[in-house]
Amino acid sequence: MSRYLAPALVAAPADLVFYSIDNAEPLIANPQDVCPSPPVGFSERFIHSEIYKAYPSITSVIHSHALPVIPFSISPRPLAACFHMAGFLGTGVPVWDFADAYADSNQQDMLVRNAKLGASLTKSLRGEIPSAKHSNPAKRLLMRGHGMVVVAQSIEMCVLCAIYTVQNAEILQTARGLGEEVKVLSEREVTDTRNTTAKGAVKPWPLWVREVEIASEIYRNLA
Ligand SMILES: [Zn+2]
Repeated sequence: MSRYLAPALVAAPADLVFYSIDNAEPLIANPQDVCPSPPVGFSERFIHSEIYKAYPSITSVIHSHALPVIPFSISPRPLAACFHMAGFLGTGVPVWDFADAYADSNQQDMLVRNAKLGASLTKSLRGEIPSAKHSNPAKRLLMRGHGMVVVAQSIEMCVLCAIYTVQNAEILQTARGLGEEVKVLSEREVTDTRNTTAKGAVKPWPLWVREVEIASEIYRNLA
């Protein structure tokens, strides 16, 4: 993971830190490749360590504070799949609530600061484990008043599902603003669009890579 900085600003090997899945502590596998003296750990690294611990076959976890999904984490109306690229969202994305997991002694600042909170969040990830053997591209959930987590079997698929989760939230919110009841995907449409999306990110991935390459004012590669 990135060291303690906004992940988009990662620019060199020294900006990366290996963490142990067992306890989320920094792990220096190769001082040549990673930050040799890890600074303060990324505070929410427990999201990642606990998910990887529970699902060894998972190779990518994205946690995001994307604004369009947050209204769905504090409203009783679910984030349901409403367009053809987001069938993996199903008919309603679960919302994990910090308040159900806090101990009185916890700092209640809406951050996943310890393994217990990370384990509680992991239990709320519903659905089959993403696998190349079947057609479930991702597990996903919303975190109340905070953001979302998407889990998949490859970085490409995880990015794809994260991007389409945000787009689905934007579409649904826009449609509801039109004032009429919106029509979301049926169970059958969810299953069939999910199967299609699971075939891969071959088409959109090069576009997203190119977008990063040309946005050199933000994204830098000093390696
Ligand atoms: Zn967060």
